[in-house]
Amino acid sequence: RVVNSLAIEMFAGLASEGGSKVRMLLTCVDTLPDGYVSSCDMTRSEEGIYYAIDLGGTSFRVLQVELGAGSTIINRKVEHQPIPEKLTKGTSDDLFNFIASTLKNFIEREGGGDEGRALGFTFSFPVSQNSISSGTLIRWTKEFSVEEAVGKDVAQCLNEALARNGLNMKVNVLVNNTVGTLALGHYYDEDTVAAVIIGAGTNACYIERNDAIIKSLGRLTNSGLTVVNVEWGSFRPPQIALTPYDICFNNETWNYYDQNFEKMISGVYLGEIARLVFQKMAQESDIFGTNDGLSTPFILSTPNLAAIREDDSPDLREVGKILEEHLKLQDVPHKTRKLVVRVCDIITQRAARLAAAAIVAILQKIGCDGTLCGTSEVRTMRGVRRRTVVAIEGGLVQGYSAFREYLDEAIVEILGEEIAATVSLRVMEEGSGTGAALLAAAYSSARQSKLH
Ligand code: BGC
Repeated sequence: RVVNSLAIEMFAGLASEGGSKVRMLLTCVDTLPDGYVSSCDMTRSEEGIYYAIDLGGTSFRVLQVELGAGSTIINRKVEHQPIPEKLTKGTSDDLFNFIASTLKNFIEREGGGDEGRALGFTFSFPVSQNSISSGTLIRWTKEFSVEEAVGKDVAQCLNEALARNGLNMKVNVLVNNTVGTLALGHYYDEDTVAAVIIGAGTNACYIERNDAIIKSLGRLTNSGLTVVNVEWGSFRPPQIALTPYDICFNNETWNYYDQNFEKMISGVYLGEIARLVFQKMAQESDIFGTNDGLSTPFILSTPNLAAIREDDSPDLREVGKILEEHLKLQDVPHKTRKLVVRVCDIITQRAARLAAAAIVAILQKIGCDGTLCGTSEVRTMRGVRRRTVVAIEGGLVQGYSAFREYLDEAIVEILGEEIAATVSLRVMEEGSGTGAALLAAAYSSARQSKLH
């Protein structure tokens, strides 16, 4: 039922602006890299060095991607840089200056020069776009709330900061992180039709036919296709009741009751839901003894929750250590540690199963719309079937095996084994940034390959 209701919201979001809980943002991307070297590709002019900036979580990345003949990736350098918390809630100038100066230092250190270099900007928040190189910030999500940037063109904000920092570069393409991940997925495998992020936040994008986008009928793109950014974080599944913990939690976040789906699934939030459950347990029993540490919001991170769930040692030593270090709970008995693991398991399972339902909703949407989306046929034990690849990225799917297992299990449960066997979720390392550099290359060269 969650699959169906998200699929319905997706149709509604394509039918009219604001007509749905999911935004279904049109991205201006109608061309994806294919990494395919053939004689005709030799005419492509994408050889060279490209840069990308990837902003979306508490750490951002600067990338340099070198493309060789036929636009193959021959070298990639990535630098991670934590963003000081005050910049995520401060002024627009401070945030973009920090990004531009980090890029400048990176270029100076790595060589390659800035002169006229194409720049891909991965900006992982909802943005309304009329061109590939610009976009207006609709709202912040996750931990960001630089309010004065809302309603502004974020590419222009970055261009101005680049100029202030003496860099001779401009944003060529502005993309959501899902779109960057899709681009890298498509570069490796042309059967990639969608991309999903389950990290600090969660979201997906997929390739849509222009004639299915009723809200902008007559839309013209080279390929007749457009990548749509679903923004499923704002979905509110009607079948899933909010628990008292979800309610309590919504009351303590700055964007109350927004991004409901994201708050049940992604990394900014899961650890905090667990803390609220433990706090309630402590209020209603004495299983934790003294428990002052439990009252500090966001003291338990999602990596902590994952480490608790993954601890399979007989005495649950890691669980005890995390409870002591982060929640100031001393000598928690084994029986209570087991309960703590169980709570983290339930929160993980709910998150992974909801994410699985959302992925299937995208597959359903693509299936409903016919055959165009880059799928090809593959032979299975029972005959010939379509093959569908979904590029996937983010801390929860890359660094947390229980999450991934529950996700895979639920996809099989919903689709059935036979169909699930034709779907592969392919993890992309640094996909969102690398994909943006590839798109910067594709959109800065005269000749572009099309989506198929
Ligand atoms: C944002 C999306 C983004 C997702 C994953 C959400 O909060 O709204 O644009 O793709 O996080 O980072």
